[in-house]
Amino acid sequence: MPYFAGIDIGSTAIKIVLVDGNGDIVGQKVSASGSMFYKYAKESLQQLCKDVGIDESDISYTVSTGYGRKLFKEADETISEITANAIGARKAGERFGTIRTIINIGGQDSKAIGLDEEGNVVNFAMNDRCAAGTGKFLDVAAAKLEIDVEELGEYHFRASGTPLAINSTCAVFAESEIIGLLGNEHSKEDIVAGIHFSIAKRIIRLTKKVGLNDIIYFDGGPALNEGLVAAIEDELGREIAIPDYPQITTALGAALLAKESFGYAEA
Ligand code: ADP
Repeated sequence: MPYFAGIDIGSTAIKIVLVDGNGDIVGQKVSASGSMFYKYAKESLQQLCKDVGIDESDISYTVSTGYGRKLFKEADETISEITANAIGARKAGERFGTIRTIINIGGQDSKAIGLDEEGNVVNFAMNDRCAAGTGKFLDVAAAKLEIDVEELGEYHFRASGTPLAINSTCAVFAESEIIGLLGNEHSKEDIVAGIHFSIAKRIIRLTKKVGLNDIIYFDGGPALNEGLVAAIEDELGREIAIPDYPQITTALGAALLAKESFGYAEA
């Protein structure tokens, strides 16, 4: 059985997905990008192959994507994360229906992608100039509040009353604002909810540039944060689709493209 690899080298995390000849996921791995993208991506792929019980030479075709995609020298092909995200969302979001809008929040950027009925990219909008509204912003805020990013969701749902307003549009100023709120004896729960609503408002503004067409699909690591998901749904006034493994959609898209490209190469 041939295997195909999709490697998404993001600013914060390396995501690898292996699919078989049917396009079904046989393995997936998320690890930190750290400072040596290539070395860590290589090691992560080796480890995943070991976990799945296959040899690296069993991988027939590899497609890399993401911020550090050009660094993965062994890749047979590279693809932009916008295209890979769209391909992955079509598959991972199948059970929700036709995905027309993707909201992706990554470690250091956020984007919105508009799709047509066939899942082709028609337009996109991106914020990659500032950390506000990204995973980095959540990481910095969580560290300041001395909680883990994995706990942000729980804190959100324990908030009482109207969420606090976080007005700063810059992550550095927002950190000072959080310190000020802590100094005024606001609870961590209310601050976390305020952060989530501030990110939700920001990403919805960005998404409006491509159109808020249903079905709206949300992915990237921060989509694992159920508090942030709830804040976006509250602000939108409608439900959004969250795949089972939101952080690996783009890597899945790259793996599916690897399968397709190999098929064409073989034909
Ligand atoms: P990139 O592709 O830019 O490397 P990711 O889509 O991998 O970014 O997202 C990384 C971000 O996801 C982290 O900065 C962190 O804030 C968030 N994240 C990762 N895991 C979790 C989790 N279990 N709960 C909440 N947030 C998470």
